[in-house]
Amino acid sequence: MDQSRKRTQSNGLPKWAKGVVIGGASLVILGAMLLPDDAPPQGYYTHVLGQAYPTEISVTTDLSALEATTSNELKWVEHTVAGGETLSTIFDQMDLGYSNLLNMLASDENAKFLEHNLRPNKTLLFGLDKDGQLAQLKYDGKMLGGSKYQSDDVITITRTGRSTYTSNIDRPEYEYTVNFYEGTVVEGGMFFLGAGYAAGLNKSQLDEISDKAFAWDIDFAKDIQIGDSFRVLVQEKWSDGEFKGLGEVLAIEFDNYGTTLTAIKAENGGFYDEKGRAMQKAFLRAPLDFRRVSSNFNPRRLHPVTGQVRPHRGTDYVAPVGTDIWSVGSGIVYKSAYNQYNGNYVFIRHNDTYVTKYLHLSKRLVSQGDRVEQGDVIGRLGGTGRVTGPHLHYEFVVNGVHQNPRTVDLPKAISLEDEDLTNYLKLAKERVAQLQAFDKLHEDEDNSGSLVNSALPM
Ligand SMILES: [Zn+2]
Repeated sequence: MDQSRKRTQSNGLPKWAKGVVIGGASLVILGAMLLPDDAPPQGYYTHVLGQAYPTEISVTTDLSALEATTSNELKWVEHTVAGGETLSTIFDQMDLGYSNLLNMLASDENAKFLEHNLRPNKTLLFGLDKDGQLAQLKYDGKMLGGSKYQSDDVITITRTGRSTYTSNIDRPEYEYTVNFYEGTVVEGGMFFLGAGYAAGLNKSQLDEISDKAFAWDIDFAKDIQIGDSFRVLVQEKWSDGEFKGLGEVLAIEFDNYGTTLTAIKAENGGFYDEKGRAMQKAFLRAPLDFRRVSSNFNPRRLHPVTGQVRPHRGTDYVAPVGTDIWSVGSGIVYKSAYNQYNGNYVFIRHNDTYVTKYLHLSKRLVSQGDRVEQGDVIGRLGGTGRVTGPHLHYEFVVNGVHQNPRTVDLPKAISLEDEDLTNYLKLAKERVAQLQAFDKLHEDEDNSGSLVNSALPM
């Protein structure tokens, strides 16, 4: 590589043009036609176009931690994904070349999966070579979820040639045990998260509980009450007799509003109820991340602008301007517009029965006729229209009638079937028995006055 560069640097052509001499003019022109948005990257054409070169970068990695896996030969740039970002905007921002992204997505399944499952707060590590070109991309399996990855997986995508990439998944070897954690929501304002941390759980388990188990049943921004409690079975990871931290959530019982909801993780990585019905349903309970919502907000019956008492036909969420607003279900955008009352608003028709409405947005990110999926960002929270302060006004309309989105009956969930169901029901029975056994143990400990390591007061 150095040899060829030295040879080409003596011929007096601009740096990028030197590749023409080596690679052949027609190939470069073809390349340029295919990649119109790309300036020729520096140092790129010292290789013959279209030919794969063995990479100098090691694809073997240390399994202990993401940071520890980085190679010294590369410059590593960390990028934490912000709301609304895609791989395309990130590549653009880091000047990595759109064509490189397309090549990566075309040649690697894990890259494709990442593109479709990129979530805010996810950390990506970009390994750049000395010319600033992307040589490796690393991230962990956290928040990609499902059955494909485990949270400790380290996925490495490595560039192997002109337009080819390969990836590998490093999965640490652990032994797992099961432990029990419980918590109760007490006064203090942090609600569910506060109770969860106080119980000894960490972000990863709390995210699983709120986003993967109960996002369709509980509005964590509005529905968590003092006195709500939960009991959780969590994996503990061990390696050579050493505790390596908490793993996945295996089962949860959640007492919410006097109702006990049970969710158990199946072999496929999804959560199901005791009868094998998916916790994931057609509609999310809340159209935004509850972590962003001001918990001390009380919707007022008195209209803040007109001063008149009028029925309030929706749910108001107060959160910072710019907060992502999600479509609660898949459907078609049938209105995306502005008027003086609603401000910027988006209406989504999910089917003949269900319509959802999102008002006062600072920004609309969908147009009339667009198809949206559950969780797609359709706009940003704002204070447009007739409001006294920024908030999201959200309506859930069933057969033309406004319903309370927090209590309305939603379409039935899809169930596991056949052998999957049989296996699941056996597992679910074991998990519930484990939960009860642990719970009993803790009660006995409480009664005997001995120390328990959970349900610490906040
Ligand atoms: Zn409202």
